[in-house]
Amino acid sequence: MPGYEVIGDEELTEIRSVFSAGGVLVRHGFDVRRNGAYKVAEFEREFAAYMGAPYALGVTSGTAALRVALAALGIGRGDSVLIPAFTFVATAEAVIEAGAIPVCVEVDETLNIDPADLERRIRSDSRAVIAVHMLGTPADISRIREICDRNSLDLIEDTAWGCGGAVDDKKLGTWGRIGTFSFDFAKTLTTGEGGMLVFSREDDFKAAAAWHDHGHENNPQLPRWEDSRTSSGFNYRMNELQGAVGLAQLRKLDRILEGQRQHHSLLRAEVEDIPGVQIRTAPLGSSATDDALIFTVPTAEAALRCRSELVGAGIGTKILPEAVSWHFAGDWTHMPEIALGVGTSLEDAFPTTRALLARSVAIPVSADLDARPGPGLRNAIRDALDSE
Ligand SMILES: *Cc1c(COP(=O)(O)O)cnc(C)c1O
Repeated sequence: MPGYEVIGDEELTEIRSVFSAGGVLVRHGFDVRRNGAYKVAEFEREFAAYMGAPYALGVTSGTAALRVALAALGIGRGDSVLIPAFTFVATAEAVIEAGAIPVCVEVDETLNIDPADLERRIRSDSRAVIAVHMLGTPADISRIREICDRNSLDLIEDTAWGCGGAVDDKKLGTWGRIGTFSFDFAKTLTTGEGGMLVFSREDDFKAAAAWHDHGHENNPQLPRWEDSRTSSGFNYRMNELQGAVGLAQLRKLDRILEGQRQHHSLLRAEVEDIPGVQIRTAPLGSSATDDALIFTVPTAEAALRCRSELVGAGIGTKILPEAVSWHFAGDWTHMPEIALGVGTSLEDAFPTTRALLARSVAIPVSADLDARPGPGLRNAIRDALDSE
């Protein structure tokens, strides 16, 4: 769990420095008045360096980051984009907002895209895959990238939960052509609301930077009011207060991850030997952010019993099973584009994902290094599974 647990004096100091430098809250312009304070630009530089990516761009949210990524790649009407059937609605919303059709793909035991189903669902209008590292466990990203390369599909990584995670020491978000991050209040790093994109290609970065800023090219030869432009765009600009908080948060990322990983392994040790508990699988070589401890139990009824026992013990669950309808495409009857993308009714569209999620339980993980699981956890799960 996340950045909000460690918000403190460092964030406040960064915000104060924006005000003491002149109080310019917008990222562009006012060069004299701001006395050298460019917090968003500094956050982007430090974020890119941390990730090992050549370019980064701050935006207003993780959803905006996805929308900007699709715009930078020219994806829109007439195109379809493959996304996992288990993700937050935002992944699908960005595709719909771009005018494209989301085509949802089943997940496997990693609870991320099943590469075999991904291959089956590629269509002639498919332009890109958005892989999601759901709740901090990496997707099988090297295999997904290989499938994308072989089928000329662009790979975008929705790294909303994977900030700081890696596969084979390569950071999540840098495997694809573009990686997107969320800094909303539930994510690993938070700026209240906010997001980031990382790019491997300069042309993608330039296209995204312009599109997220009404088409502004920020031409150094011209004042901003006469700026050059070659396309329209929108406004998804991050502001200086978000940049300031983001800088302080980024400097705490390794500590957050250390806390989550430590707490995760303690929680895991409490439950992994209980008969019926199967811990979520992670791809080989992966370094998870361990945002939640996820396991499956034998039946959907047992998962619901786990939830009520955990709530009774004051522990609670995270997304699975209580908020699954916000995260499972088979329940998104409010978005007609989802059914359009599969060509069947949603009830029958994703049987594997539906069954897996119904049997899954996710326990929130704290970033607090001193957090210790109480006796309630093991007892709650044992009680829930005893009646099997
Ligand atoms: C949180 C989240 C987003 C959206 O991020 P916001 O910053 O809340 O807009 C996108 N994708 C996934 C998988 C998420 O969990």
